[in-house]
Amino acid sequence: MTVWDRLKGSRAAEWLEHQIARGDPGHAWLLIGPAGSGKRNAAVSIAAALNCTTAPNVGCAECSSCLRILRQRHPDVHHIVPEGPLIPVDVIREAVLPEAARSPFEGGYKVFIIEEADRMNEAAQNALLKTLEEPHSDTVFILISDHEEELLDTVLSRCRIARLESVPEDRIVELLITEGIPESTALLAARVGDGDLARARAFASDQNTKERRDLWLGLPRRLVSPIDALDAAAEIIAEAAEVVQLREQAQRTEIVELAEAMGEGRGTATARNALAKRHRRELRRLEEEMLGEALQTIAGFYRDVLVARGGGVDAVMNIDQLAEIESWGAADVSDGALLRATERCLEARAALIRNANVAVTIEAVLLELVRLVPAPARVGDFA
Ligand SMILES: [Zn+2]
Repeated sequence: MTVWDRLKGSRAAEWLEHQIARGDPGHAWLLIGPAGSGKRNAAVSIAAALNCTTAPNVGCAECSSCLRILRQRHPDVHHIVPEGPLIPVDVIREAVLPEAARSPFEGGYKVFIIEEADRMNEAAQNALLKTLEEPHSDTVFILISDHEEELLDTVLSRCRIARLESVPEDRIVELLITEGIPESTALLAARVGDGDLARARAFASDQNTKERRDLWLGLPRRLVSPIDALDAAAEIIAEAAEVVQLREQAQRTEIVELAEAMGEGRGTATARNALAKRHRRELRRLEEEMLGEALQTIAGFYRDVLVARGGGVDAVMNIDQLAEIESWGAADVSDGALLRATERCLEARAALIRNANVAVTIEAVLLELVRLVPAPARVGDFA
């Protein structure tokens, strides 16, 4: 077993694995690719391989160092994620540069994984540039992005670039089956995952993810009046809050672990503050993800109705909902309204990423769905 197993079949990941195994850490990597292509996994695998104590440059996935890196709990592996729409220059100046100048805590490599690196504004990219140009020998930067055109040429030219591809549906099915998932679940999960192995895997193996999806997919049918819209909005927000709360509990465990690992010595307060800050970011991001998942799932349903109506049943994503999708397809809902409904869900999701008010955004989009695509009466329903 190695840390690269999760990325089997990706040629870009195989190339990265090979580069690191040759003993060449690289100092600045840029991982590019669509959602679900494994960029984050690849970044974490690089960090683990570089710091593995039993299989250096390979990553055994079992030693304490590998395990902590895979769980994002290693003091030398830093994850920088956007706060709202941006990675501001202060984050680079305060959280990255001083840390990059220090030696690694555990003597391996200090790794900075900058997620959605394109959200660094120009000032932030320029602040990073000097360190990218003259990195410490034991420091490695891994930038992750879906939008390389937003990165400065000067930054791009410093990075070694790996382009990851989204995973073909049949490959996802195959991988899930080898992981012990029954074929019928694997087929549905691959379709729902839409080229995103992590999403497909979560769907196939995590009961909560599955239940949430059922809840989201049940919403279009319930949206008849404005009151229904407000009820549904409250439900979506409560569900996201519940997931956030669970993560908060896990964070409390992590705080205890950190305290035990560090004792009460110098630097403890700094480490605690850094952890508290990371936790707050994590919770905000998780909420954004959960709400985004709800909106994306609902958008996918309306899209499926359009697709099925156009004769493309084979391209329907929610293949376990065919009867419901076809009943909407036969109902008196215009293509234009369905299209607009899909767009509105995705617009709301984008607004949340830009830090729009949660309740206002979710209520507004659901009220509009009631207006655009009120649930049609079911055949056999008598109003
Ligand atoms: Zn290891």
